[in-house]
Order: sequence, then C-alpha cells, then structure tokens
Amino acid sequence: SSGGMADGFSAVSADSVALETELRNAVEQGQLEIFYQPIVRVADCSVAGFEALIRWRHPERGLISPDDFIAHCEETGLIVTLGRFALDQAAHDLAQLQRFFPLNPPLFASVNVSRRQLRDPAFESFLRHLLADCGIAPGTLKLEVTESVAAANAQAILRRIRALGAGLAIDDFGTGQSSLSQLKDIPFDTVKIDKSFLSRHGGTHSESDSSVVLSSIVTLAHDLKRDVVVEGVESEADASLLDEIGCEFAQGFYYSPPLPLADALNYIARHYDAGTAIKIEPGSGAASLGG
Ligand code: C2E
Ligand code: CA
Ligand code: CA
Repeated sequence: SSGGMADGFSAVSADSVALETELRNAVEQGQLEIFYQPIVRVADCSVAGFEALIRWRHPERGLISPDDFIAHCEETGLIVTLGRFALDQAAHDLAQLQRFFPLNPPLFASVNVSRRQLRDPAFESFLRHLLADCGIAPGTLKLEVTESVAAANAQAILRRIRALGAGLAIDDFGTGQSSLSQLKDIPFDTVKIDKSFLSRHGGTHSESDSSVVLSSIVTLAHDLKRDVVVEGVESEADASLLDEIGCEFAQGFYYSPPLPLADALNYIARHYDAGTAIKIEPGSGAASLGG
C-alpha cells in the first residue's frame, strides 16, 4: 500500500528491549523519516496541505510502518523524542513548501501527537520555540489528536496549544467515544472523519446508510464552523460521494500515498502544471523547483 513498506517487525518486537535499543539507535542515526500525504480539495483536486507520517528506514528491513513501532514508543516514553523529531521536521519542511508555493490560503501540515507527548511538561515551550523559529505562516502547523486524547481531560492543554498559534485537528473522528460533545467543547479547527465511514470499509451498513451518516457528520461539523477532511479515499466513487455531500477536503490513496518531501513538492507542481485551480501568486518560487 503506502510505498513498499516492510512486513511487520515481529522478529524484533518479540523482544521489546531489543526493539527499544534499535529505536534509540534509529533516532541517533537519522533512520527516521517523515513522509507527506496530500490533503486535497475535493472540488478541484488542488493541494491544501499534508499529513506528516513517520517511517523508519531500517538498514536491513527497509521502510517500517509506524503501526509497528509507535505503540511501543508510547509505552516506553520514546514517543516524546520521536514526536519532537516529527514536529520539528514537518515544521521546517512546511516552511520550505510554503516558500516554493506561496499559495493563498497557505499550505498546511498536520502532525500526529499522542497523549504521552501532551503530558510532557516541556511540550508547550518546545512548540512555542518551534513556531517562533521555523518561519511558517500562522496557524498552518496543525496537531492531530485522537478522540481518546480529547476525552482525557486534555481540554486545557489543547486550548493553550491553540493559543500558541498551532491548529488543532481531531483524528479518526467517529471511532471513539463522546465525539459530539468534544466537537462542541474543544476548539478544533478540523475534523478528520475516519475511513470506516466510507461504505466499503464498514461492512455492516448498506452503502446508502453509510453515506447518510457521513453526510450528517459533515453537515454537523460545518455547522460548528469546522473544516472537514475525510480519510481513506481510495476510488473515484469515494471522491464523487464526497463531492455530492459537500465535503471540502479529502485524503487517501486515490489522490496519493504518503510521499517523501521531494515527491510531495513534485505532486504540487504536477497539479499546478495540469492547470488545476491551484493559484500561485506572481513571483513564487515554482520555477526554482529543480534546484
Ligand atoms: P493515522 O493518523 O490515522 O494516519 C492515516 C493512516 O492511513 C496512515 O498510515 C496512512 O498511510 C493511511 N492511509 C492513507 N490513505 C489511505 C487510504 O486511502 N486507505 C487506507 N486504508 N489507509 C490510508 P500510516 O502512515 O501507516 O500511519 C499509521 C498511524 O501511525 C497513523 O494513523 C498515526 O496514528 C500513527 N503515526 C504516524 N506518524 C506518527 C507520528 O509522527 N507521531 C505519532 N504520535 N503517531 C504517528
Ligand atoms: Ca492522523
Ligand atoms: Ca486518521
């Protein structure tokens, strides 16, 4: 699926001490990389922003999926180190993307942040310095937290994070608990609707029931003045359903898998070349892409 990822990590994860040691080495030796999956406007397929997704480029095993090491990092606390790396890298890469493509509104980057990271007492000052130093447009670095984080009494920290100038997205919306009250109580900018709401993933609902539920969540989120991204768009049928129900933003393999930074740059450029509705202001750096 997402770019020739290695199959699992069972041989090492059986021994969590070995995995821990390998991961610490991976951080030190620069084996962690951030990939970027385009988040596009359904209406014209222009690129609005990206989700930053971490990968481990293992010297023997190739690209390893975050599903095979993030949970372990959350247990051991190494997620604090990994998460800082991801935020720092994504913010600086975003600054570069915004220089190449000074769009209006500016490109954004959305970075996954786990509960453990928010509990780190130094997280706020890390974020404050990052936002002050990286040179991105205000509000264009967004933090994605899951419903369970939002439910876990994290309202105060989420409000402070937003006050620092980061955006907030609620991730995998609709898979957790008390979704609706969180939507109203926490100042999320963006609701990311889980891929299970596209009918083929669910299995239990009929296709039309699924689209009624999806459509209702989209309407509700829009009424609360939140942006909506539907995840897991894999086909033209998915995309046209989103268009029909008035969903603005989408993300999924139909548009693009997560890409290394250079390929993400090319992806925007290709859509610009194709004459889609991406608007580039005069004097932008688009011509300097090759350099
Ligand atoms: P997520 O935040 O829900 O990210 C979306 C996942 O769906 C990504 O998997 C992405 O590659 C995949 N995906 C994208 N389009 C499609 C599609 O059309 N169909 C399907 N079936 N899947 C699609 P990935 O990259 O393997 O990441 C897995 C999870 O690892 C993420 O789920 C996120 O929870 C976590 N993760 C990734 N990077 C980070 C990070 O930097 N920090 C933290 N804390 N967690 C991360
Ligand atoms: Ca996410
Ligand atoms: Ca998600």
